[in-house]
Amino acid sequence: MEEVFNSFFGGGFGFGGARRQDPNAPQRGDDLRLDIEIEFEEAVFGLTKEIKIDHLETCSSCGGTGAKNGSKPETCRNCGGSGRIQQTTRTVLGHFTQIVTCPACHGKGTVINNPCPDCKGAGRKETEKKLEVKIPAGVDNGSKMRLSHEGDAGTNGGISGDLYIVIHVKPSKYYQRDDINVFTKLEVTPAQAALGDSIKIRTLDGESTVNIPAGIQHGGTIKIKGAGIPHIAKPSLRGDHIVVISIKIPERLSNEEKILYKKLYDLQSEKKDSVKERLKGVFK
Ligand SMILES: [Zn+2]
Ligand SMILES: [Zn+2]
Repeated sequence: MEEVFNSFFGGGFGFGGARRQDPNAPQRGDDLRLDIEIEFEEAVFGLTKEIKIDHLETCSSCGGTGAKNGSKPETCRNCGGSGRIQQTTRTVLGHFTQIVTCPACHGKGTVINNPCPDCKGAGRKETEKKLEVKIPAGVDNGSKMRLSHEGDAGTNGGISGDLYIVIHVKPSKYYQRDDINVFTKLEVTPAQAALGDSIKIRTLDGESTVNIPAGIQHGGTIKIKGAGIPHIAKPSLRGDHIVVISIKIPERLSNEEKILYKKLYDLQSEKKDSVKERLKGVFK
């Protein structure tokens, strides 16, 4: 019999062990998350963006009490204001008395007989709000910003939750980003690579001229210092713009180009032959 009793108590009361929080205690509002998408260049230089969010705001008509303007929440008659009632259950082992949360007031001890028509007694209502958000220069894809107390309003005088903004940066067709540096590809002809050239290119700050040194190789790089992305914590510090050279071999040649390439070919073959001849002399 003792065992039966123990297991009854174990099963019957065990899971209800955690103490319920006081329903009248101040409760912090929920945190909210908003995802926004911005352009690549906007992430580089930052921007001020107007956003709209739906959140729970303390009802202005009732000041959060939930009672119709002029009235007040009244003491619950079911529990006499304690928020709890005694409940007696009859079992095969006899009568058991338990203290349970009052179902009429859900433990608050007060009831609203005259609910506020604006929030239907909830004390908070879903409202759209507009915010101006300053997105700093240098944000990256996945960067998070926290706006304190811009989330849902609290209850019973609790503080509001926070609003988290998650930034999604659209990829650029032109720039590749690596931390605070940007990379771009620049196609040049074999002649430009061999002889060197000055070419106008697009940079984050506008048009700029890059000097390609004679003899640059395919995959070679030219660094434009300080033309990259501002460091988010230290905007005066900027990364670099790195131009990666891609030598494009012409797929079709004009007749004149063909003649010139042939000339170049013969010239370079002669050079090779003379080197071979000289080497033969050395190793004889
Ligand atoms: Zn009650
Ligand atoms: Zn209200």
